Amino acid sequence: MATETAHDPKNIDSAALTPAMRQYFAAKEQHPDCLMFCRIGDFYELFYDDAILVARELQLTLTARDREKKQPMCGVPYHAAEIYIQRLLRKGYRIALCEQMEDPKQAKGVVRREVTKVLTPGTAVDPGLGAEQSNYLASVAMKGSGASGCVGLALLDLSTGEFRATEFAGAGAWAAAADEMGRLRPVEVIHAEGMFAAGVFGPTPRDTSAMDGAPGVFSAGSDDAVGTQVSEARPGAPTVEAGQDGLDGIRTKTPVEEWVFTPEYALPLLRNHLRLHSLDGLGLAGHETAAVAAGALLHYLKKTKQGGLEHVDGLRYYERSGCLELDAVSVRNLELVEPLFSGESAQTTLFYTLDACCTPMGKRLLRATLLRPANSLPEIEARLEAVGEAAGDLRRREVLRRSMDGVLDLERLLGRVALDSAGPREVMSLAATLKCLPGVVAAVNEFQSARWKELGSCEVSNFGGADSHVSEARRGAPSATPGVPGFDALDDLHARIVRTIAEEPPVNFADGGVIRGGVDPELDELRELSRSGRQALVAIEERERQRTGIGSLKVRFNSVFGYYLEVTKANAKAVPAEYERKQTLVNAERFTTPELKEYEAKILTAQERSGEIERRIFAALRAELLAGAGRIRETARRVAEIDLLACFAHLAALRGWVRPMTEDSGVLEFAQARHPVVERRMEESGGGRFVPNSVYLDAGPDSAAGPAVLLITGPNMGGKSTYLRQAALLVIMAQCGCFVPAERMRLGLVDRIYTRIGASDNVARGRSTFMVEMTETSAILNTATARSLVLLDEMGRGTATYDGLSLAWATVEHMHNRIRARTLFATHYHELTLLAEQLSRLRNLRVTVKETPTGIVFLHSVEPGPASKSYGIEVAKLAGLPGTVIARAREVLKVHERAESSAVRAEAAPAQQQVQLTMFTPLSQRIVDRVSALDVDEMTPREALNLLAELQRELKA
Ligand code: ADP
Ligand code: MG
Repeated sequence: MATETAHDPKNIDSAALTPAMRQYFAAKEQHPDCLMFCRIGDFYELFYDDAILVARELQLTLTARDREKKQPMCGVPYHAAEIYIQRLLRKGYRIALCEQMEDPKQAKGVVRREVTKVLTPGTAVDPGLGAEQSNYLASVAMKGSGASGCVGLALLDLSTGEFRATEFAGAGAWAAAADEMGRLRPVEVIHAEGMFAAGVFGPTPRDTSAMDGAPGVFSAGSDDAVGTQVSEARPGAPTVEAGQDGLDGIRTKTPVEEWVFTPEYALPLLRNHLRLHSLDGLGLAGHETAAVAAGALLHYLKKTKQGGLEHVDGLRYYERSGCLELDAVSVRNLELVEPLFSGESAQTTLFYTLDACCTPMGKRLLRATLLRPANSLPEIEARLEAVGEAAGDLRRREVLRRSMDGVLDLERLLGRVALDSAGPREVMSLAATLKCLPGVVAAVNEFQSARWKELGSCEVSNFGGADSHVSEARRGAPSATPGVPGFDALDDLHARIVRTIAEEPPVNFADGGVIRGGVDPELDELRELSRSGRQALVAIEERERQRTGIGSLKVRFNSVFGYYLEVTKANAKAVPAEYERKQTLVNAERFTTPELKEYEAKILTAQERSGEIERRIFAALRAELLAGAGRIRETARRVAEIDLLACFAHLAALRGWVRPMTEDSGVLEFAQARHPVVERRMEESGGGRFVPNSVYLDAGPDSAAGPAVLLITGPNMGGKSTYLRQAALLVIMAQCGCFVPAERMRLGLVDRIYTRIGASDNVARGRSTFMVEMTETSAILNTATARSLVLLDEMGRGTATYDGLSLAWATVEHMHNRIRARTLFATHYHELTLLAEQLSRLRNLRVTVKETPTGIVFLHSVEPGPASKSYGIEVAKLAGLPGTVIARAREVLKVHERAESSAVRAEAAPAQQQVQLTMFTPLSQRIVDRVSALDVDEMTPREALNLLAELQRELKA
């Protein structure tokens, strides 16, 4: 690590600096939080600590500017800088580009340099960004604190222009906002200066975990998630402080001046940008804090000079309660979109298993939908109906899917046009995509279901349910107002591009020929001029060869010397006297003539002028495309939804999935269901057949209804966790509108899903695991409803047996008696199976094993009844523990089991009579201990009677 002080600008004598370095320090002072990329000639150079850091991060050679090596320096070539910059941004750094503001050839004295752009992880669009990923920049605004407090959250994906905001109120506001960010994983979050320091957040659910990681160290993950040490003082460094604020996953947190987060400043900015008189139409009425967060976000983008933001033309207010709620922990545990452990293959995710989308927009919508499944019956039914129709008709489905083959990323292409990073080729790809759209509309209209009709129609009818992710997006879109045509195939924009841009345009403008012939008469004339000019040069070459007798004489061009005649050294003697020498090379001489100069001037002016015209026409086209940004985005949304439904239909047909029956009840029933991810992985690896299982739960209010809590026991590796996750995944799939891998599924809609995994499954996350587990569990007990689905896997494993067992016991009781949510509880505490004797709506299930003389075999099928034992020793035997250890463990176990089962049974029995069972062995042990410690011979009958009364009181208390 560098010694910071040695390179502190304050310690540097500014008088001794060169003018260029003085410029550098001035720029650095303005952007102290950025790595300063300073353009010098063909390089971007970095100096001092920036150089040391970048050299280390990018494995570059560190050099020095001065002989004493006091000014460390490193550089990257200008033309290749993009790759280096992207790598630094992915690591969470901020970068300022300090450019040369004048042509070094023309500058008198030192070239003027200025910071033209600040790039940050959330504001720079990463060309390597996966099609299905979003690159969110988040902004958080706070108002008040505690119960009357409010947190506004805005999110923007600059690559597509998706812009939304939400708000959380009350004491849990910050925790909820942090959870939402945990789900959406922004790459950067901006906040008011001093917000984190002020400690306004209060304890967050994961606060305690901060104790485990040294501050400033963020956990190592994949290469991109870097396990680098960063200190506060580091310029441009990711400022992650693990766990302090519940945002430990976000690498870059950028403080912005406090006044930016005021309604007086942020609201007018937002209104002006969106060209609205009032924000109420966006659903922002009464959500000022959300609007402030959004306005501050725009301020930040404008400040970092991100060029055109025309594609950021709408903002939608959303609420998490409008969908099946999934908290960040469940999203992670269920591996919906990312593997549980970073670095693991993404093939373990539900997203991977379901992704058969044809377009990048479809992939992104699938991802977003998995994080926000619907929770309204009409919306889910509308999707299922459409999926069912397409699943049942191979021909029409394939026509539809193939119609989207050439559809590229409309939203991102539009984003690039807006950010002015789209060249002629990108605009042509946009045209190629637009050309496919009429085919998509036609293919959609082959279907009859209401949802297909809505998507393909040219009239906006009553789109979807209010809870639909997509229809919500639509409501926020400016063009989605009733009366505006529905599916807009954008023919006019397509025609406009094709009419303007050459069929195969060059990559760079400098090469000319971007604009089609016939578009601009002056351009055509200039092109003709330079063409005839070039022909004249060919004629000159030929004529001069004849005249001088030098057969190898050539007319050539280069950008420094312009046009010249080149003659080899050997022939130099034969050159006519009027040739004017321009340059001497090792074995050639270069000349010019007045005639050549004249043509040169003509050609070059013509080229320069036509370049100007081409640029002007291209800019006009760009402006026209951006004027249609809202329409393009709306069409992109429809394509995304069409693609997603077609993808679900494809999966249903291909894999034989069935349509879930949804209803308004407390039932959750599967017959012969399979875990979609595990099943697919087993198929792919040839790892045997997945054993289907069934579930029946009914948490309806009628207490005579079926079981509401399933307690699953059985050995490790028996399939308990898989069974639990399978239930959650199928519910999520069904509420997304997807068919499910089962023979039959009946689903009373679920409002929230909670998944918790016992501590020891999580040690790899390096957290204070038991505390995390308990805070997570308390969140469930405090927020789950009778409509929720709760999965508790190996709860209480992270502490001593009796503590863990007691907590698990009490939790099951609470779920059963108070919350009455549909609950699946997997546990290795087979003592818990006794609960079935007192809790009328709890059923025991066990994963089956076959005991063979050589050991146990897992059958992976779930059947009624408690596990007879936990088989820990058998599993250990399978794992290869030495025979002597196994044999000794069996002996010890026998002794313990005998003692324990009698104790637990004795405690459980009286509870049945009336009093709720609150405690068992640990408490009674105290009484037992006292009794056995008595010296009965020394007691009077009165003392004995008193003691008896006291013990009884204690038992009753
Ligand atoms: P537990 O939670 O009981 O320890 P897991 O659910 O983790 O067990 O499953 C252990 C292994 O068994 C996993 O590798 C999983 O792939 C496999 N497995 C689980 N359920 C099934 C099933 N129904 N059919 C086939 N294999 C299964
Ligand atoms: Mg398990």
